[in-house]
Amino acid sequence: EELKAQNIGKIIDSVVFLLNAQSRNHKIDLIWNGTKKTHLILGDESQMKQVFVNLIKNAIEASEDNEHVEILLFEKEEKVFIQIKDNGCGIPADKLDQVGDSFFTTKEKGTGLGLMVTRKIIHNHKGEMSINSQENVGTTFTVILPKYK
Ligand code: ADP
Ligand code: MG
Repeated sequence: EELKAQNIGKIIDSVVFLLNAQSRNHKIDLIWNGTKKTHLILGDESQMKQVFVNLIKNAIEASEDNEHVEILLFEKEEKVFIQIKDNGCGIPADKLDQVGDSFFTTKEKGTGLGLMVTRKIIHNHKGEMSINSQENVGTTFTVILPKYK
């Protein structure tokens, strides 16, 4: 693990590039407009990639064909916000608490480890993650990381 100033926009660029083939197979558009501004965080590049691979993969897997997954990046009050939004199956209110527990999965071939690892990495980077979800409407994961100065 090596902590360095990371341009989070570049990290998302590479993850979107990596997942484009999978999303195309599902006819799902990954909407990522990139960013003109450089948003820096202090972190480990491969761990940060893992975070966004996990979240975007989950969003693709939750979506139906021809839906889209949107990724937003912005800064507010010394913090960097990354949002992954889908219009997929959503998470039932009574399951929200369990999401991110080890081995909690609703997928036939799921491991239920992705969000646990994701949350751990974010916490190690002094960040936080929140989930907004409505069953049959969609889900937004928000990752908040301290801005590197
Ligand atoms: P896995 O993907 O192997 O199931 P995760 O830890 O990544 O494990 O996710 C755990 C569970 O959380 C998933 O099985 C699914 O039920 C729920 N989940 C995660 N992301 C989403 C999402 N974007 N939309 C709906 N459900 C989700
Ligand atoms: Mg997963």
